Amino acid sequence: MTDSNRCAAPVFSMEHVSKSFGKTCVLRDISLSVRPGEAVAIIGPSGGGKSTLLRCATTLETIDAGSLRYGDLTVASSDGGAVTYAKGADLRAAKSRFGLVFQGYNLFPHMTVMRNICDAPIAVQKRSRSEVEAQARALIAKMGLEGCENKVPCQLSGGQQQRASIARALCLNPDILFFDEPTSALDPELTGEVLKVIRQLADEDTTMIIVTHEMAFARDVADRVVFMDGGLIVEEGSPAQVLGSPQHERTRAFLSRYS
Ligand code: ADP
Ligand code: MG
Repeated sequence: MTDSNRCAAPVFSMEHVSKSFGKTCVLRDISLSVRPGEAVAIIGPSGGGKSTLLRCATTLETIDAGSLRYGDLTVASSDGGAVTYAKGADLRAAKSRFGLVFQGYNLFPHMTVMRNICDAPIAVQKRSRSEVEAQARALIAKMGLEGCENKVPCQLSGGQQQRASIARALCLNPDILFFDEPTSALDPELTGEVLKVIRQLADEDTTMIIVTHEMAFARDVADRVVFMDGGLIVEEGSPAQVLGSPQHERTRAFLSRYS
């Protein structure tokens, strides 16, 4: 992140978001915003609400209270009472501002890599095939997937599939990318190649939220680390602060498992 971006308006923000499944409260008054060029790592124990946070941010789940914004577009807001969601063109516009990459099964199994990447930009964003295919070829090269254009997902390694998923998300030109444990389904030798491309994106100031169990990666790549447990943001700060000298006992207990 460059200094000039520190005061810029957030690309994404959630304010006072709560979410329950039945009687189980999974997100408790979460506020989080991300500035242009910032890479935020979310860490924390399983069941802490990290995936739910990303699913709420990306409208795969609805929130019970609070607000969600992408830049100047309000996706959801509540004035103390029920949450109102944007509809129609406004909701579609907001959805085109983010990309999501999760553990596995991101790709359509019956489509080639090229079609996986190009389908939504052409069908949803109504862009020209030639322009989208040129961008897709550049992304395929950037992700180290030359020669995989016409393969279907089952012909690729897990690491190649994840890199194709990242290319697919990037081809929609999102303002922010969300990653939910992008390497947790991969063998260690394939994890490295996926982390390398995410690191490259961070070096290029791609705005991102990355849920990860890779602490060394979070330390190297994130501008900010957020520790979540029990549906709460327990603490956040620079990687040196949160990973190097955590203030809360829960953070220390969690991190002790990784040292
Ligand atoms: P994390 O990603 O940090 O492991 P999750 O967001 O997946 O945590 O889960 C947080 C809590 O919410 C867990 O207790 C989980 O069982 C519960 N949960 C998640 N999704 C659902 C759902 N669709 N229905 C009911 N409970 C859910
Ligand atoms: Mg999860």
